[in-house]
Amino acid sequence: QAKKAGKNRYHFYSSHEHGGRINPLKMEMELHKAIERKELLLHYQPKINLKTGKITGVEALIRWLHPDWGMVSPGTFIPLVEETGLIIPIGEWALHAACKQNKEWQQRGFSTVVSVNLSPRQFKQSNLVQTIARVLQKTGLEPHCLEVEITESMTADIERTISTLQQLKKLGVRISIDDFGTGFSSLNYLKQLPVDTLKIDQSFVRELYKNPNDETIVKTIISMTHNLNLTVVAEGIESKEQLAFLQQHLCDEGQGYFFSKPLTKEQLEERIPDIQQIVKDHGISQDLNE
Ligand code: C2E
Ligand code: MG
Ligand code: MG
Ligand code: MG
Repeated sequence: QAKKAGKNRYHFYSSHEHGGRINPLKMEMELHKAIERKELLLHYQPKINLKTGKITGVEALIRWLHPDWGMVSPGTFIPLVEETGLIIPIGEWALHAACKQNKEWQQRGFSTVVSVNLSPRQFKQSNLVQTIARVLQKTGLEPHCLEVEITESMTADIERTISTLQQLKKLGVRISIDDFGTGFSSLNYLKQLPVDTLKIDQSFVRELYKNPNDETIVKTIISMTHNLNLTVVAEGIESKEQLAFLQQHLCDEGQGYFFSKPLTKEQLEERIPDIQQIVKDHGISQDLNE
């Protein structure tokens, strides 16, 4: 059967759990039903303050648990739903689920900021701000407990980007630029955008201690971010060497497998003490009063 599927010229690879090829038409049909069948879920990955060790937020990352194919990663299906427009209902589902979860955490005494990724198509929707406002109202989550992540590539139309971001700011939502460094934003451009945070793309973090160019890039992004009075987050921290480099160069926050993989909400709740231990073992002072 794998052989037969292999004859399709266009195919998407699913995650390691499945390992096979899925016909995109079939996948699209299945995705149409995924929301109502409750096959979509969110995993959460914590972000850590590299000075205090506190968990400053969690990023919501979508997963698709298909009954036959198993866990399908967003890298496989987000491009497809982006192309077909299905990202609009799926993206709204993710936004709602993340806000609802954060509200529940808050009511149980775990107060945090949840970050939700927006795709280019979502960001271009004229009713994006209304949708977010409605989701916040429905879930009762305060706007400052929600952060949206956009990428540099979405911000090509400067006038429109500034206007959308200003409306989001007015609503009180935080804004982060994801995968920073992979696009081509100039400093002059960046300083006009009302954003709070830059996330250094994991491709630069991966080669720290190996590639001097990437070390220079990371140092430059950190100091530039601080000059603009923004917060800087490093993505994809996997080793203690990478962490040490980032701490030494005063990166504010970090995220990566070194602290925790993206987890279900139950797993995350269980893992918080372990994360605190990792943080302690690596000399990040824990100032609980902060
Ligand atoms: P992203 O927002 O840049 O998310 C970071 C990706 O890196 C995640 O992959 C995460 O699991 C992975 N990651 C985190 N730490 C490490 C690490 O230490 N090492 C390595 N190698 N990887 C790490 P994931 O969950 O497969 O998501 C991929 C992308 O799919 C995301 O990239 C985001 O662009 C998109 N995405 C995920 N959820 C949503 C969603 O709800 N809506 C939209 N529009 N896009 C989403
Ligand atoms: Mg992200
Ligand atoms: Mg990223
Ligand atoms: Mg990415």
